[in-house]
Amino acid sequence: MRVTPAPTAQADADLTEEQQDFARAVRDFCERECGPERLKELTRGFDDLHNDEVARQMAELGWYGVAIDEEYGGSGGGLLEACLFLEETAHGEAPIGAYPVTLIVAGALERFGTVDQKRRLLGHVAEGGALAIAMSEPEAGSDVGALSTRAERSNGEWVLDGTKMWCSYAHKAREILIVCRTERSESKHEGLSMIFVPREAEGLTVIPIDTLGGKETNELHLKECRVPEDALLGDPGGGWTQLMAGLNYERVILAAAALGLAQRAFDEALGYAKERKQFGRPIGSFQATQHKLADLATKLVQARLLVRSVARMTDSDPERMLPQEASMAKLACTELAKRCALEGTQIMGGYGYATEYPMERYLRAAVVTTIFGGTSEIQKNIIAKTLGL
Ligand SMILES: Cc1cc2nc3c(=O)[nH]c(=O)nc-3n(C[C@H](O)[C@H](O)[C@H](O)COP(=O)(O)OP(=O)(O)OC[C@H]3O[C@@H](n4cnc5c(N)ncnc54)[C@H](O)[C@@H]3O)c2cc1C
Repeated sequence: MRVTPAPTAQADADLTEEQQDFARAVRDFCERECGPERLKELTRGFDDLHNDEVARQMAELGWYGVAIDEEYGGSGGGLLEACLFLEETAHGEAPIGAYPVTLIVAGALERFGTVDQKRRLLGHVAEGGALAIAMSEPEAGSDVGALSTRAERSNGEWVLDGTKMWCSYAHKAREILIVCRTERSESKHEGLSMIFVPREAEGLTVIPIDTLGGKETNELHLKECRVPEDALLGDPGGGWTQLMAGLNYERVILAAAALGLAQRAFDEALGYAKERKQFGRPIGSFQATQHKLADLATKLVQARLLVRSVARMTDSDPERMLPQEASMAKLACTELAKRCALEGTQIMGGYGYATEYPMERYLRAAVVTTIFGGTSEIQKNIIAKTLGL
């Protein structure tokens, strides 16, 4: 069932006409091009959630490079415009699963890339291409600083060895940004660097990991994998500082995508509650259902205002670190996506659980949002720290 989205109060009132038109155009595209039957084809039965052709189409419309500088082929928008795009494409189920992580890497490139790197890779993104980032390892999850993948200089090259876990869309990416250890140091946060490795590089093996969400993430093995010295992003040994500099951006990107998913699950549940009759009346006329939907509608508006305000603050001062606000946005939107999908399943009863309806897909997609990009527990740790705890 395709449903008309519920009004989402006044979060849109703060957008310019141009931003509202942009969001509407993306929504229209998704409704037109990604209807249920078409989506099934585009995603090979909802298993492969990134379709290169859809990405290319969106690139041709100038949307894929929405947050990339014009000199590198983008449209020159900011994080707020990127949020609108992420929210609408997640809401509209556009199969561009690699986009959020691609945008995270594009942000790092904008901040630390050389002109050559930007031309090569930002241009690729603006044309609808994908990039990936590998921080996590078997023994380094929430504790990213514990990572042990090494890179050593040898004859004008970097030689990488190690294992990475959970590298999203590495199988679609032209290049993967590997966070690795290039210097020995007392502190685990020193001596880290970021190095681009082409997916086709000799010595790199990409192994898919089956998940609830389908084909999305991978294990990587690097064995004497050699790349040129200029594959380094930013400063040697500056990896941790560079990671920290991207955290506002990363958390807001993941928050905006989760918000779109939350709204989608909500809209589906609301539409269903209006149509489904039991005891001779719509289930939406029962107060128990009404209160669930009223609570979720309120939370959606709160989350939207929060995520957009953090995006605006980041756009107005990209250097400013916003650990509290960015973590709150990530926490609020991802927990809400999970809650909307769970409540949506309950509201739809047995039909919510059936694969014939989309709610179970939303639930599977929502579950991981509170895990990747820093779990909810880690976001709470960060927020607590900003409170002086
Ligand atoms: C589908 C998917 C895609 C991903 N994509 C990427 C990617 O593209 N690139 C990448 O580098 N990584 C990626 N990740 C990895 C992701 O960021 C990690 O899974 C996440 O950071 C958690 O690490 P972990 O899974 O090792 O869990 P652990 O760190 O082992 O945590 C297990 C549990 O312990 C809790 N915990 C851990 N430490 C603390 C603490 N200090 N206080 C309170 N609770 C704590 C956690 O919150 C969690 O509940 C992806 C993961 C998934 C599942």
